Amino acid sequence: RHFLDRIERLNPTLNAFITVTAETALAAAEQADRRLAAGEEGALIGVPLAHKDIFCTDGILTTCASRMLSNFVAPYDATVVARLSRAGAVMLGKANMDEFAMGSSNETSWYGPVRNPWDLDKVPGGSSGGSAAAVAARLVPASTGTDTGGSIRQPAALTSLTGLKPSYGRVSRYGMIAFASSLDQAGTLTRSAHDAALLLAQMAGFDPLDSTSVDTPVPDYVGLLAQPLTGLKIGVLKEFFERGLDEEIERRVREALEVYRRLGAQLVEVSLPNLPLSVPAYYVVAPAECSSNLSRFDGVRFGHRCDSPVDLLDLYKRSRAEGFGEEVKRRIMTGTYVLSAGYYDAYYLRAQKVRRLIADDFARAFSQVDVLMGPTTPSPAFAIGTKSDDPVTMYLNDIYTSGVNLAGLPAMSVPCGFQDGLPVGLQIVGPHFAEARLLNVAHVYQ
Ligand code: GLN
Repeated sequence: RHFLDRIERLNPTLNAFITVTAETALAAAEQADRRLAAGEEGALIGVPLAHKDIFCTDGILTTCASRMLSNFVAPYDATVVARLSRAGAVMLGKANMDEFAMGSSNETSWYGPVRNPWDLDKVPGGSSGGSAAAVAARLVPASTGTDTGGSIRQPAALTSLTGLKPSYGRVSRYGMIAFASSLDQAGTLTRSAHDAALLLAQMAGFDPLDSTSVDTPVPDYVGLLAQPLTGLKIGVLKEFFERGLDEEIERRVREALEVYRRLGAQLVEVSLPNLPLSVPAYYVVAPAECSSNLSRFDGVRFGHRCDSPVDLLDLYKRSRAEGFGEEVKRRIMTGTYVLSAGYYDAYYLRAQKVRRLIADDFARAFSQVDVLMGPTTPSPAFAIGTKSDDPVTMYLNDIYTSGVNLAGLPAMSVPCGFQDGLPVGLQIVGPHFAEARLLNVAHVYQ
């Protein structure tokens, strides 16, 4: 009730929620009460939660912040949603986001932009902007998000939260509306690494409903949080401190590195020469996959359908023209172009080769160090409206985050101070399935 009350008071300003599920939440809370009264133990029983509106929720509107799905009531729960509710978590609503998770500022949402609680004129980051603003403004203690090129880490950095993007395959993608299937991964936005560990413990693990979910044991994330950091080898990512990085952000990140050195870690400079190619490679691979994934929204089976179509082609064309926003259309066109017969080799195939080089760079680095560190974003939160007309400038926000997705690695963003009242994030990247180590490294710093 405390959180529902805050949502009622503050959401009209922040626009962090697309749907608030007060009634089902109160019923779920009563059930949680009964479980606790019966002596059941579980860290998440009765814990309020928001889900990014990209996760299907049985019987509840699931929009992906698109007009295309503005009338779509999902017929089943995503695995992430099902696992968390089985663990006793209580969903308070569905969080706003960039349309189909395409964006870095939450400005592409059909439901309007989300405001950053630290400064209402600024963006909260994206695409999981509603999930971030909701936790940062204490409308809910924790939320889920998805990260295809930075969409958990970047909003976490801009709102002073802990954001966790697990390894590709660690958390099931079943019921998570697909943007770029080889990059998408579900994760968390929380106030601490400890909270992230509690959630991941329930979310992670093999799911026969997702063919890319990996069948490896789920470690005791909470139990491993407090291990000492003596002897930890931290690679400081040379390419992340080069041109384009805000000076104050660099200062905060270097201060955080110094804290790690005092905690017993060893800092080594590491170079990943192909990493600066992440943004161009990402903006070929992600649109290519999106153009294919979004072909299912045809006005026939899901969501928006235009009025009085004259024939089938007219139905397809007008439903899609009306249902998708500008950024989504730009991605579909780019993706279709890079996959077309004449350009496939020049763009798509080339981007896949660069992707391999980036993954190899990371693998080489992890033969020398345990984790890599650098900034999460090149600048703090920017003003709403200042970058939305310039896609290339907007894409450059992903400069430090998208390489991690191309390589399928786990990564976190943790708060490391403020610049003129705006939060700054430190990024920590680990080898595949090193989530326990990442959470430990974040937790000891916090
Ligand atoms: N900003 C990136 C994009 O627009 C990443 C989005 C994401 O991670 N979902 O594609």
